[in-house]
Amino acid sequence: MNRAQSDLWFHRAESVILGGVNSPSRSYKSVGGGTPIVMSRGEGSKFYDVDGNEYIDYLAGYGPSILGHAHPEITRTISQAASDGILYGTPTTSEVLFAEQLRVAIPDLERIRFVNSGTEAVMTTIRVARAYTGRTRIIKFAGCYHGHSDAMLVAAGSGPSSMGVPDSAGVTKSTAEEVITVPFNDLDALEQALATHGTDVAAVLVEPIVGNFGIVAPKDDQYLESVIQLAHHHGALVVFDEVITAFRFHYGSAAQLYDVHPDLFALGKIIGGGLPIGAYGGRRDVMEKVAPLGPAYQAGTMAGNPLSMRTGISCLNVLRQPGIYDEMAARAKRLVEATTAAAQRYRVPVTVNRVGGAFTVFFGDRPVRNYDDAQATDSKQFARYYHLLADNGILIAPSKYEAWFVSAVHTDDDIDKTCEVIERVFHELA
Ligand code: PMP
Repeated sequence: MNRAQSDLWFHRAESVILGGVNSPSRSYKSVGGGTPIVMSRGEGSKFYDVDGNEYIDYLAGYGPSILGHAHPEITRTISQAASDGILYGTPTTSEVLFAEQLRVAIPDLERIRFVNSGTEAVMTTIRVARAYTGRTRIIKFAGCYHGHSDAMLVAAGSGPSSMGVPDSAGVTKSTAEEVITVPFNDLDALEQALATHGTDVAAVLVEPIVGNFGIVAPKDDQYLESVIQLAHHHGALVVFDEVITAFRFHYGSAAQLYDVHPDLFALGKIIGGGLPIGAYGGRRDVMEKVAPLGPAYQAGTMAGNPLSMRTGISCLNVLRQPGIYDEMAARAKRLVEATTAAAQRYRVPVTVNRVGGAFTVFFGDRPVRNYDDAQATDSKQFARYYHLLADNGILIAPSKYEAWFVSAVHTDDDIDKTCEVIERVFHELA
C-alpha cells in the first residue's frame, strides 16, 4: 500500500506538532514504530488517507464514532446548529433538552453538568467526592485509564501503559500518594485497601466494563455490586467512569446492565456524537456540593455549547432506534468467530474478550481478567497483527490495550471483507 503522502504529512507534522500527534496513543510507539497514517476524509464505515487508500474503520475515534463518519443526521444537525450561532455563554434550551434526554436514559443522573472532555468529567467527580466526604484518597483499579488529570496518571492504562510510563513525570509524589491502586476483578484486594485506608477514602473509581487494558468485563454479575457495597460500608462514594461504556453496549449505562447504582458517573465520547464533550452527574445531594449551589468549584467557557449539545441529542436519537445494538453485537460476534477460527487454524494463541459490539484480541492463551494478564500478552505479535491489518485496509487502534469498535454503520459487506482479511492476517502471523 502506497503511503508516500501520509509519510510526507507526518514528517511535516513532527516539525510543528510535538511528536507529530495531538494525543500520544496515535503514535506508533507501541506497535514497533512506523509512520502513523494521516487521514483526510471519512464516509460511513470507511475512511481514506491522504494517498487515497480506503480503510474500514474499527478505531471509531477511540470510541465516539458509533455512527461512523459524516452520518447524515449528525452532519445536518451540525450545520443547522452552526447557522444558529455556536456559542452564547448563557443558558440554552439545547443543554436542558440534552440533560433531560440523558436522565431519561440513565435515571441515576439526578443532576448533571456538561464539560468538554472525559478527563474533565472524571477530574471533577473526584473533587466532588472529596468535597462531599471531606476525605482525600481515591481508590482506582490498575490499568484503568481515567483521563490525564494528575491524580489519574497513577497506574493508568490505555495510552500511558502502552507507552510504558504508567506514572507520568510531572505528577507530584504527594498526588500519587493520594491514589491507591488495586487489581480489577479482585474483591479481596479492594477489601484490604479499604480496611487499611477506609476512613480516608473519598471514592472508589472504576470503569465498570474496562476498555483501557483491552475489553475486560467484571468477573461475574455480582462484582460491581460488591465493589459498591464495600465502598459504601467504608463511607466512600463510588464513581463509574462510563466515558467509553455509556451508550456503547445499549441505550444507557453499563451500570444498568448490572443493575447497580453508583453515586456519580463520568461520561464522554459517544454522548457528543463525535464533537468534544464530557459530562458528570449522579446523586442530587452529592452534586449539590458543586458551585453555584455548593463549595466545590467547576466551570467551563465551552461547557454545554450548543453545537455539542445538539449533536449529542441527534446521536442519541439515532441510537434509540430498535435493534441497533443487537446488530452491532452480532457483527462483532462474526468478527470474533472469524478471529478464533483463523487463530486455531494457523495455531496462533489468542484470547478474545468481547462485550456487545466491542472486543479485544489478546495474543496469549490465558484468560485476561486484569491489567497484569493484559500486560503478559504478546506485544510483538500484536504489532505485526496491527500492521498487517492496516496494510490490508482494516484500521484499529495501534495498541494491544485498546478495542475493536463495531459501529452502527458497518455493513455485512464490511464484515465479510474484514473476515477475509483476518484469515489472511493469521495465515501470515503463523
Ligand atoms: N475515561 C475513560 C474510561 C477513557 O477511556 C478516557 C479516554 N480514552 C477518558 C476517561 C478521558 O477522556 P478524554 O480523552 O475525552 O479526556
